[in-house]
Amino acid sequence: MREIKKYTVFFDFDNTITTYDVIDDMLLWFSMDNRWINLEKQWKKGKISSRECLKGQVEGIRITQKSLEEYLSKIKIDSYFKKLIGLLDSQKIKIAVLSDNFYEVLSYVFRHHRIKGLKIYSNRVELTKDKLTLSFPYANKHCLLCAHCKKESLMANIKGNSTSVYIGDGLSDVCPSQHVDIVFAKADLLRYFRANRLKCVPFKTLKDVYRYFKRIL
Ligand SMILES: [Mg+2]
Repeated sequence: MREIKKYTVFFDFDNTITTYDVIDDMLLWFSMDNRWINLEKQWKKGKISSRECLKGQVEGIRITQKSLEEYLSKIKIDSYFKKLIGLLDSQKIKIAVLSDNFYEVLSYVFRHHRIKGLKIYSNRVELTKDKLTLSFPYANKHCLLCAHCKKESLMANIKGNSTSVYIGDGLSDVCPSQHVDIVFAKADLLRYFRANRLKCVPFKTLKDVYRYFKRIL
């Protein structure tokens, strides 16, 4: 009898499920000044951690509840995301979203697109008047590099006999993607994998990932 392979699939959110980086876009639209650009430079030079960078940048945003909701309702997601999770769901494949964005943003976007039941691991944000305050429920006490330790969230969801799959685009996906069996990569993540001669499946949109699973399942 043919053994049915079990999969666990992890998605990054920004520029993987969405068609662009939502945090970067929000910084452009809603930052009260240009301090976020300087923080970005310091982070790229390795002078500050990504947690420090994200906290400084997002806390420099000024936005009202109304314009935040207006913005969130316009966020575009990959047109194949729903199809893909539908396919995975139909095969009882476990899915989790690992993001450096915020639970409040992800849950709004999923609700808006009528996507239910996704397991979300992310940072948190609270809006008081027009200021955002961040918290990091999935930070790693021993490694200060990331705001959300995607590797720990990933490891907590991998079962011994399942094939783990990671789909992502950015530098915060480098660490977790080194602990799975199959990596789908685009943009910075793909550049990293290519520069380090690591094996991955390049993808442009989730249509490519959908086709892959359609073929193997
Ligand atoms: Mg991303």
